[in-house]
Amino acid sequence: MKTIFEKSNGIDGINLTDENTDFAKYIPQNYLRTEAPNLPQLSELEVMRHYKELSDLNFCIEKGFYPLGSCTMKYNPKVNEFLASLEGFNIHPSSDDDLAQGSLKLMYNLQKALLEVTGMDAITLQPSAGAHGEMTGMMIIKKYFDSIGEKRTKVIIPDSAHGTNPASAKMAGFDIVEIKSNDKGQVDIEALKSVLNEDIAAIMMTNPNTLGIFEEGVKEISDLMHANGSLLYYDGANFNAIMGWTNPKLMGFDVVHLNLHKTFSTPHGGGGPGAGPVAVIEKLKNYLPTPVIDFKGGKYFRNYDLKNSIGSVKDFYGNFSVLVKAYAYILMLGKNLKNASENAVLNANYLKEKLKSYYELPYDEPCMHEFVLTGEKQKHENGVSTLNIAKALMDGNTHPPTVYFPLIVHEAIMIEPTESETKEKLDEFVDTMIKIAQEAQNNPEKILSAPHTTPVKKIDEVTAARNPDLKYIS
Ligand SMILES: *Cc1c(COP(=O)(O)O)cnc(C)c1O
Repeated sequence: MKTIFEKSNGIDGINLTDENTDFAKYIPQNYLRTEAPNLPQLSELEVMRHYKELSDLNFCIEKGFYPLGSCTMKYNPKVNEFLASLEGFNIHPSSDDDLAQGSLKLMYNLQKALLEVTGMDAITLQPSAGAHGEMTGMMIIKKYFDSIGEKRTKVIIPDSAHGTNPASAKMAGFDIVEIKSNDKGQVDIEALKSVLNEDIAAIMMTNPNTLGIFEEGVKEISDLMHANGSLLYYDGANFNAIMGWTNPKLMGFDVVHLNLHKTFSTPHGGGGPGAGPVAVIEKLKNYLPTPVIDFKGGKYFRNYDLKNSIGSVKDFYGNFSVLVKAYAYILMLGKNLKNASENAVLNANYLKEKLKSYYELPYDEPCMHEFVLTGEKQKHENGVSTLNIAKALMDGNTHPPTVYFPLIVHEAIMIEPTESETKEKLDEFVDTMIKIAQEAQNNPEKILSAPHTTPVKKIDEVTAARNPDLKYIS
């Protein structure tokens, strides 16, 4: 029998006329096509080359430097992708605990390791993103105050915070009180004191904050908050700044989330699965979502029995493959986790010092894992904006840094080199940035019309947003 898929020009990848692939016989007659579809006729090799070519249009960490502040591509060893795909980990999430002892043990050990780095007492691996962890943490804080009969309705958030912080607190039912940063880019303690009262449930802090600066007043802040009967939430998305050097417990925090898909071997972004575990101090232990992974009588098991649990925040126990990668990464580095943070901080300070005479540095403080420059000088003197600088970097085989964030810095350029880049790579980036600064002065037109070497050149972003053309045209 001839099928209607048979090709006229004889170029074909697979033979759809094979006995075993003659699916037409299973389809009712009235649903069958009567005319052949107008499909492209290509050989298997041509199809393969087409997709390879498409993938080459993308920029990726395999191609070059990726200093995307905060959300950056930290060290994501390929071997961990392999480990996460091992057949033994491919187990149905409804399997009995008895059949899943290995996977449960891995999660249990990961819980222990994350408790060690955060200093906390109990943890859930369930949330699937940083923002999801924040919401989980805020729900725990809400339920805690409800259960002890205190009506606390407000959460304090510094103006430098990641945008997810106020959104998460609001979703958990709190109102937000914003406080300003001082001229060192840190929480203004007098401003904090002025808003403290019995309505305040918590403060959400990121330390180092989104300017990459360590909050020197953190101990004073935690003492003030606790004296007010409030709790402290730690946004630990970028834990690569402090691993092994200090921890949120020592700083006085009560609830912490981590982004395993930033610090612990899964790339952030790209829409892939993530994990935002939430760790708490002893008195909040029973409020965690269930199940948590426990060990008793020689067996690992999913424990659903937490008295004040806020309930589940995700099906089953979270994104398991991300947990495998995090566990492998922690085992691989062991005590050297500390070195990862040391190098992250060293690399960021190196770039900051090299670049600060070419771009303005609004907060000239020692930085942690990242730092924020501003393109204000280039904008006012040469009419070249931060967006133009970001586009010009693409010509230098570099992913642009995070731009226009944090909001408290105009024309912000937020750079995070990560721990895993070589000095040669950092120097190359410095050269590219210096060239762009010089070009902005001498030949601004070149920067204004960048990028010149990418598959897609300068785009009209306003028209793209106002009149999106969503059709695919070959
Ligand atoms: C990335 C990030 C978040 C949010 O994490 P998601 O997984 O993107 O939801 C929160 N806070 C800070 C400081 C971050 O850098």
